[in-house]
Amino acid sequence: MDKDSILHLTFVVAIIILALATGIFWGRYQQNQEISKSALSAKDITEDFLLKFEGINIERALQETSEQVIIPSEAIRVPILVYHSVRPQVKGESTLIDYFDITPEMFERNLVYLKENNFSVIPFSSLVKALEEEKELPKKPVILTFDDGWKNQYIYAFPLLKQYGVTATFFIFTNAIGHKNFLSWEQIKELDRFGMTIASHTKSHPYLFQIKDRNILTDEIAGSKKILEDGLGKPVEIFAYPFGYFSDLIVSVVKESGFKAARSSKKGTYHTKDGLFILRSIEISDDFDAFVKNLNK
Ligand SMILES: [Zn+2]
Repeated sequence: MDKDSILHLTFVVAIIILALATGIFWGRYQQNQEISKSALSAKDITEDFLLKFEGINIERALQETSEQVIIPSEAIRVPILVYHSVRPQVKGESTLIDYFDITPEMFERNLVYLKENNFSVIPFSSLVKALEEEKELPKKPVILTFDDGWKNQYIYAFPLLKQYGVTATFFIFTNAIGHKNFLSWEQIKELDRFGMTIASHTKSHPYLFQIKDRNILTDEIAGSKKILEDGLGKPVEIFAYPFGYFSDLIVSVVKESGFKAARSSKKGTYHTKDGLFILRSIEISDDFDAFVKNLNK
């Protein structure tokens, strides 16, 4: 072979190697894309969601304890109770999951207590009207809310709500709808038909304070409102901040998006017209004494 032929052959071989390498690389790339796509669709959104809670509780606890509570004279007292999962306890589960759980028995005990002590469970809209239009509320008003749209709320809490003839507000983050462990559209529509309030909790349950882009905030907040309204065919007017966090920017986007009120994680039972977008609430756990204490504070 002459020099030119060797050069030519080398060139051809190099091209073949390059083509093969590209093929292999592309194949692997596609495979990885498939894996991450299926990982994303099959991903347990529950786990992803619970992980977000890690680390945030300490900060939130600090936020709660550092606040000075001054109650203005025009304030209305309505405890807004916050429930997460309602389900029987499973042995060996992490304390993180446990923290947000209440057993169906304890939830029923809460309902019995409210009934026996003449509390009036009111819909969220009644508090908004009372603050906006100074409408009278029944004696000892209280609001029940369920966060995040867990399927167990439908399975364990909804039958009890019907049994005791009370309504509650369900804050849904719309990306979770239909996922394992979360409510389906059918269940959400059924809750709505039985007089429950369906309310917004963003699309992906993000740390809103980390989002500096107003458009992304609007997409999370107004976007979730639209998804729920399109699905239910009625206005969705109440919002709850994921993790309870809010800022001036977040509040302004919530107002702009057309909501009438928003629940925060500021601890307390008093509300004012000025505070319609930072309504206080009480987290409910399996601790019955704490439930009674907070309710009567
Ligand atoms: Zn939440």
